[in-house]
Amino acid sequence: TELEIIDRSKEWAAFLKKKYKTELNKLAREYPYTKSLTIGYDVLEGYGKTGTILADELLERPGKTLEDIRDAIRTAHLISRKDREGNDTSEDVISGINIRFIRLPRKTQIRDIRAEHINKFISVDGIIRRVTEVRPRLVIGAFRCAAGHFTYKAQDYGTYSEPDVCGNAECTQKKLELVQNKSTFIDSQKLRIQETPEGLRGGEQPQNIDIDVVDDLCGIVSPGDRVIINGILRSVQRITGGQKSTVFDLFVECNSIEISIKEFEEVNISEEDEETIKEMATDPAVYGKIARSIAPTIYGNDEVKEAIALQMFGGIAKEMPDGSSLRGDIHVLLVGDPGIAKSQLLRYVIKLAPRGIYTSGKSASSAGLTAAAVKDDLGDGRWTLEAGALVLADKGIAAVDEMDKMQRDDRSSLHEAMEQQSISVAKAGINATLRTRCSLLGAANPKLGRFDEFTNISEQVNMPPSLLSRFDLIFIMKDKPDAVRDLNIANHILKSHMAGEKIMHHKKHPIPGADDEYFKRELAPVMPEIDAVLLRKYLAYAKRNCFPMLTNEAKEILVQYYQSLRGVAIDSDKPVPVTARQLEALVRLAEASARVRLADEIDVEDAKRVVKIVDTCLRQVAYD
Ligand code: ADP
Ligand code: MG
Repeated sequence: TELEIIDRSKEWAAFLKKKYKTELNKLAREYPYTKSLTIGYDVLEGYGKTGTILADELLERPGKTLEDIRDAIRTAHLISRKDREGNDTSEDVISGINIRFIRLPRKTQIRDIRAEHINKFISVDGIIRRVTEVRPRLVIGAFRCAAGHFTYKAQDYGTYSEPDVCGNAECTQKKLELVQNKSTFIDSQKLRIQETPEGLRGGEQPQNIDIDVVDDLCGIVSPGDRVIINGILRSVQRITGGQKSTVFDLFVECNSIEISIKEFEEVNISEEDEETIKEMATDPAVYGKIARSIAPTIYGNDEVKEAIALQMFGGIAKEMPDGSSLRGDIHVLLVGDPGIAKSQLLRYVIKLAPRGIYTSGKSASSAGLTAAAVKDDLGDGRWTLEAGALVLADKGIAAVDEMDKMQRDDRSSLHEAMEQQSISVAKAGINATLRTRCSLLGAANPKLGRFDEFTNISEQVNMPPSLLSRFDLIFIMKDKPDAVRDLNIANHILKSHMAGEKIMHHKKHPIPGADDEYFKRELAPVMPEIDAVLLRKYLAYAKRNCFPMLTNEAKEILVQYYQSLRGVAIDSDKPVPVTARQLEALVRLAEASARVRLADEIDVEDAKRVVKIVDTCLRQVAYD
């Protein structure tokens, strides 16, 4: 419905007086240290019938509405201020403040932004992919002619324009020059946000939108932050090769930024779910069930799947009194012959784990795996800081395929990213520390195609020992011909194909009598025992609620095993050194193991389980 153009300043004044008087007084006192009035959309909507009308109008005609509000503040004298000499300076405050809205109930997906949204107030959520440096932007230019007259000209977004002729009526000067210290500038920054991984259906490429921020919103977000951006969708004409095009580019003129800090907010667990999860956790077979629910179409690889299951549950991050911290995230590396389903496993995990990002060491963007400072179109020549996969996967899992082919820069920055769980970038005007609190699931192919037992693994996967030692578990997956196993794999692969064929066939020529039960039976061999939605909830529940502690008995076992490792490894020439890192890895894995049962204590069984897994791995790489 078309809204009539009516002056709403009276209604706004009444609303602000009722609900935001304290904030307005604070602005009058503290301006310019406090520069923004932030209004909750929910508060506005809850303000009776007028509130709903005003709220609707904000969405439909945001530019007019924001001016109405400023007018309302002015005419109703909602802000008043005097300087020391007693002169009224209220107008400086009123024209200098920003009016911002937060907590909009409806979000627009980045991929759904269309022409119909242009000049409307929208709310989008996403993850910050890039930020530019903060730089001043000219808003009102002061121009002086040779005769010394001043002419002021407001500048449109992005394009610089000079007056054609001096503004003084008696003057005909056409040559004018910009006088910086009489001009008005505003801080400006550009951001690029991208859809969050959890909002994507498997395999979709995330889409981006650029955000223009000014004034006190500059410099408050970093790449990797999860945010809600509220603002007005604007369009600018694209210019290709100096020619104006009929195609317009979109960006959001940012009105407010909300930074989300909650983890797993995307996973909602009902009371019923909670019952189910607690019930499942009491089943002694839960380990196997969860492991088998990871990539059911892939046959075997039970230890790998079990390790991945533990990785998804994760250990517990600890903050030490001295300010240092110990990571809880578990890093796993799969090394092996081609064609043994490494890539498939990675893709599957991403579908399961909340906040999963899949990337390849080979095809990574300019930001690579960690972060980079680049100069490009977003910044119009300014430096921009771009987040790589590990930053985007903050508080999730980063699956990195073909790690052997990653760039040299990545290899060096990964050390810090994996252990300290942050990356520092210092280049040009950019100085930032980005968080990478994620677990890394890597896959690497040996250099010569096949894994060679007699050559050093570090050389084969093109990673230094120091980097390899950051992985809690390294699996060597060999493709040795084995008649029984091969037959089993073949049968399993063909079962998945046949199940798939039946579904496709049924779509074209319905199979008589084929009901849900029929498909359940037919698909059984390739269906996960716990479906992905429930497993995701299980994971989120465990991570939120379960913080198990070591028992003395479990501790004994881990320490004993660690000592025995040091004993055999000390004079072995295997390339992955046994260091205190392995002991930390054992603890993390044991914590994850207890979490699977939602237990408060790490017991002897947990300790034994992880010793077995670690030993299988280390036997292949550290000692034999
Ligand atoms: P890699 O990344 O290790 O080179 P891929 O993940 O690309 O291998 O797997 C190659 C193909 O072989 C995939 O289609 C995968 O499903 C199949 N495959 C390999 N091993 C198995 C297995 N154990 N069970 C089922 N399928 C398998
Ligand atoms: Mg592969």
